[in-house]
Amino acid sequence: MKFLIILFSLIFLNTKPTHAWGFFGHQRINRMAVLTLPPEMFTFYKHHIRYITENAVNPDKRRYAVVGEAERHYIDLDVYGDSALYKLPRRWEDAVAKYTEDTLRAYGIVPWHLQLMKFQLVNAFKERNVDKILRISADMGHYIGDANVPLHTTQNYNGQMTGLYGIHGFWESRLPELFADDYNYFFEKATYFKSSMAKAWEAVTNAHLALDSVLRFEKELTKQFAEDKKYSFETRGNMTMKVHSKEFSAAYSKMLNGQVERRMRAAIQMVGDFWYTCWIEAGQPNLDNLLEMNQEQLKILEEEEQELLQEPKIKSRLHENSLNTNIPDDEKPTYNFGRLVFRREEKKEK
Ligand SMILES: [Zn+2]
Repeated sequence: MKFLIILFSLIFLNTKPTHAWGFFGHQRINRMAVLTLPPEMFTFYKHHIRYITENAVNPDKRRYAVVGEAERHYIDLDVYGDSALYKLPRRWEDAVAKYTEDTLRAYGIVPWHLQLMKFQLVNAFKERNVDKILRISADMGHYIGDANVPLHTTQNYNGQMTGLYGIHGFWESRLPELFADDYNYFFEKATYFKSSMAKAWEAVTNAHLALDSVLRFEKELTKQFAEDKKYSFETRGNMTMKVHSKEFSAAYSKMLNGQVERRMRAAIQMVGDFWYTCWIEAGQPNLDNLLEMNQEQLKILEEEEQELLQEPKIKSRLHENSLNTNIPDDEKPTYNFGRLVFRREEKKEK
C-alpha cells in the first residue's frame, strides 16, 4: 500500500506540465526508474528525484553546445545495410577496426556510449562522489531512453526520406504527452546484468525491430485522414503550434497497439537495471551515508549544467518540435550520396 501511495504521488502530484515540448518522456523515464530500485538505493534516489527528473533532458540541450554530443543519442543502423543488426560488431574496438571511428561517429554511437556511461557510473559509486553519481545517472537515463526509441535507430529519423516529416516528435513527444497517464507503471525490481554491451544492444535491437510499424502505420493512416483532420493547432503559452490532431494521434496509438508504452516501459526498466548494476559492481556503497549532500555542492552542480546549456553553437539533426521548426532553405536536409548535408557541415565544425 505504501508503495502504491508513493507511486501515485510520484506520478500525479509532481508532474507539472513541462514547458519544453519533447522533454516529457525523458523526465518520466528517469523519474519512474527510481521506483525500480531496491531500498538500499531508493532513499538516495528519491531524495534527489527532482535533480534526476529535471536533468533528464540535459543531453538534448547539450547537443547544440558540446562537440561530440549529438552522436551519442542514436545509431543509424540502416546505413550499414539490411542486416546491420547482425553484422555490426558489438565491441567498439571491433567496430572501429571494421568501419573506422569517423564513420561510427558520423552515424551515431549510442550503444557504445552506454557502455562508457556504465563504466563512469561504477567509478562514481566507488568514489562515493554524489555530484558524479547524480549527473551520470541522469545522463545515462537519457541515453537509455533514446536507445529504446525506434526512430533513433535510422537515418530516416524524422520520416524525411519517406514523406512523413515530423514523425519523430509525434512518436516520442506528442503520443506520450497525450497518453502516458494511461500507461501501466508497475515494474519489476531492478536486476543485475552481466554484460552492458549485450544490454545496450538489446535496447537498440528491440527499438529497430519496431521501426517498420512506426513508419508504415503513419503512412497507412495518413491516407485515411484529410490534411485538416490529421493536424490541428494548439496553444502553448503564447504560441500557437501545429500538432498532430488528437483524433489522428489516438488512431495511430491504437494501431501501434501499445508500442510507445512498451518502449517507454522497457527504457524505465533498463535505466533501473543500469543504475542497480553499477551500484553492485562498485561494491554496494552505503548511499544513505551520502544523503547529506551539501546544498552548496548541489548548487554548483546545477550552475555548471546551466553554463553548458548556453547559446547553441552546433548545428545538429532536427529533433523535437520539428513540425514547427522554421528551417531556412539552405539548412534543409538534402541528400548527397545518402548523407545529410547539414550533418556534413556539422562535422566540419568539429
Ligand atoms: Zn536525446
